[in-house]
Amino acid sequence: MIIIDEAAYISVDLFFETICPLLGMETAAMIAISTPLGPFNYFSKLIQLTEEDGTPFFNVKQLGTVCVECLKLPTQAEMLACTHVTDRLPPWKSGARYEHIYKHLIMLVISLFEGGLI
Ligand SMILES: [Zn+2]
Repeated sequence: MIIIDEAAYISVDLFFETICPLLGMETAAMIAISTPLGPFNYFSKLIQLTEEDGTPFFNVKQLGTVCVECLKLPTQAEMLACTHVTDRLPPWKSGARYEHIYKHLIMLVISLFEGGLI
């Protein structure tokens, strides 16, 4: 059993040179958990990977805290400011605290983006 936490953040070399060969073993299984880190990294491509017939290559469960409408916003900072689906938070997170923290921190990130500091 291979368990990768924050899988989008590990080295691509580590994934392809070490983990992929292990997945070739008959009894290998992998659980990879991560924030996707945007649509253009290897992890996002992995979770979208399909067989030749179009069936998903991996069994992917996606949980998100950004609503469908906010996913259409032009920047990742604006998307992450979504507070419309706090009912999807895992039970160990507080909706009120989540909204309070993200409302303030995301506004800071947006202002840093707009000021060219990020
Ligand atoms: Zn939203």
